[in-house]
Amino acid sequence: MESLDKQTTFLINGFNSVNYSATPSETSKLQSQTYVHTGVINSQQIKKKSRSETFKARQKTKGHLALLAAEIHESDLSKKLLRCHSRLAFLTCGRHIHQVIPNFVCEFRLCPDCARRKSRKRVNDYLPVMTAFVRRNRVKPVHLVLTQTHKRETRKQSVKRLKTAFNNLIRREFWKEHFKGGTWSVEFTRGKDNLHHTHLHIIGFRTKFFDIDLLRDEWFSVTGDSFILRLDPITDLSKGLLEVFKYVSKPLDIDRFTAGDLKDFLKLRNTHLFGSFGEFRTFKSNYIASDDDKVSLPDYSKYGQLTEGYVCPSNNCDRLLIEKRRSAKGFVNYLRKIEGSPPS
Ligand SMILES: [Zn+2]
Ligand SMILES: [Zn+2]
Repeated sequence: MESLDKQTTFLINGFNSVNYSATPSETSKLQSQTYVHTGVINSQQIKKKSRSETFKARQKTKGHLALLAAEIHESDLSKKLLRCHSRLAFLTCGRHIHQVIPNFVCEFRLCPDCARRKSRKRVNDYLPVMTAFVRRNRVKPVHLVLTQTHKRETRKQSVKRLKTAFNNLIRREFWKEHFKGGTWSVEFTRGKDNLHHTHLHIIGFRTKFFDIDLLRDEWFSVTGDSFILRLDPITDLSKGLLEVFKYVSKPLDIDRFTAGDLKDFLKLRNTHLFGSFGEFRTFKSNYIASDDDKVSLPDYSKYGQLTEGYVCPSNNCDRLLIEKRRSAKGFVNYLRKIEGSPPS
């Protein structure tokens, strides 16, 4: 983790040094203030784990959360977490697995299984409408990360501070001249100072090019103390959405959560952590797909209509699919067998 943090800092400082010419006093402020520690960057650095490993890791995280929930007398939540994805039905040819269906989904924001399902559903919901919006309005999608200074405050206070600044930003003339709305979502991370960092990930639709320093000035002016942001063009909307929706709204460090962290997070129960805004929001609520709007959804959504007896849709496979049911532990072992690694 240590070296990862260093790498991330380096990347972002590299980014800043290209786009931001800081005076010496500003440089020290820049370094002491924050680095943009986003999952989007981490995902490119971490070696891809096997499916059984990631499934097992998600189970472990849920077990940890369930214990914490019991500790703070949230026994319903604790039970739900333990039940979620505890049994699975799936279709398999013996070499590949398709269409894993859990017995129960808890829908808790921090549940890694449910967050994953939700982000995939979100991509499916948003990709067609975003593609149509880009085509009809001739706008360029960008991924914008807005950060704020760290303070000793609850997550709820931190989110409120960030959202207030963002709402002020999008009312500014500069913003309106250059963007036609988009989506926003909150990301939580934790810094070495042990304070939690709250970022806003925006998929924005840019109408014209501008100097990033001008946007930095606007952000500084609405926050009063923050000027760290990052803007990357999105060239492939499908990939971009997957990256952005995958990592947001749940902290990266749930495994290190304490009962106090969970209690603090639960205060966000009635707080929205995702939404759309501006012209894009209006467009989405009135959107009816036309024949020109056909988009291909990511791989995982292609195989939705399979049943037992169908031919396995994986490449170079003509075996027939059969249905199996397993407990979570049995499912991990089944995955391992397929991956060729010994069962636990
Ligand atoms: Zn197969
Ligand atoms: Zn769940």
